[in-house]
Amino acid sequence: MRHRLSLEEYTSGILAGDRLVLSRAITIIESRLTADKDLAAQILRQILPRTGNSLRIGITGIPGVGKSTFIEAFGKQVTSLGKSVAVLAIDPSSKKSGGSILGDKTRMEELSRNSLAFIRPSPTGLSLGGVARSTRETMLLCEAGGFDVILIETVGVGQSETLVKGMTDFFLLLMLAGAGDELQGIKKGIMEMADLIAINKADGLNKDAAMRAVAEYQQALHLFPKTESGFISKAVPCSALENTGIAAIWDEMMRFFDITRKNGFFEKNRQLQNLDWMHDYIRQTLEEQFYNSPVVKRKLTSLEEAVGNNLEPPLSAARQLIDIFMKNG
Ligand code: GDP
Repeated sequence: MRHRLSLEEYTSGILAGDRLVLSRAITIIESRLTADKDLAAQILRQILPRTGNSLRIGITGIPGVGKSTFIEAFGKQVTSLGKSVAVLAIDPSSKKSGGSILGDKTRMEELSRNSLAFIRPSPTGLSLGGVARSTRETMLLCEAGGFDVILIETVGVGQSETLVKGMTDFFLLLMLAGAGDELQGIKKGIMEMADLIAINKADGLNKDAAMRAVAEYQQALHLFPKTESGFISKAVPCSALENTGIAAIWDEMMRFFDITRKNGFFEKNRQLQNLDWMHDYIRQTLEEQFYNSPVVKRKLTSLEEAVGNNLEPPLSAARQLIDIFMKNG
């Protein structure tokens, strides 16, 4: 393994916008070694005052909906305005496959060559909670590195959406016409999370169907309760392939940021997200310590068996383990 830089080298490199140092710092964030965890915490503490200045945008949709094509087109739109963009991912499948939705950079070939863009694949080998944590911290590093827009991509499968929603300001749901809600794995909850629904592939023979889908989703959105953000969610058409509707989506986002900054939702949402993350860290850390504690490990299997065989109520087994942990853990 390459030698570590010093804390000072990491922080000054990140703040100076050095991509290589940024990448190496992200590797430290993703590491599971205790020494790296300490270093990561120090880096984060140092760069914290320089974070928070980007627009954090989550993007989701089923595989094949056109996420990478869209990000390529959207990234081009953002960079054409002179703004820089970092693309990150939370990919629940990366653990199993060892691959990643962004692992294959050729999917965003043009964007990856753009000097205003930075693409980082989803980390592998971590639990979903671990991936979420490292993506969030990577986002903070990118912000300190001066990126104006952070895009976080995820696949439409459920829990990962909630995690992305919990770390972004704006949530974009990409959908297709005629694929059927069920096929798209879209539950009402995910539509409710979306600030904007974009019906992609509104081009060629698919254009009419896409326009009908826009009208249908627009109808459905009317039935949802009023959003806390004060922004009224919409459905819009786009073609990532033909680059139509992309600028309009950016304009909608600008409108969202304008409204939510003025009405205070933007700040309030970030504060609540920070608090959620703090509690999340507490939960994760305590759980790790609990299950790694030798006294708990010694007792766990026998109590699991007792609970499994109905010889011990789950609550009393949990209490016994927690007692042992609190006394000796
Ligand atoms: P992802 O799995 O969601 O990342 O989807 P991809 O971006 O890989 O796109 C899946 C397929 O849909 C590819 O063959 C793309 O060329 C195609 N595609 C993506 N966007 C559009 C679009 O706007 N119009 C059309 N016609 N095809 C598209």
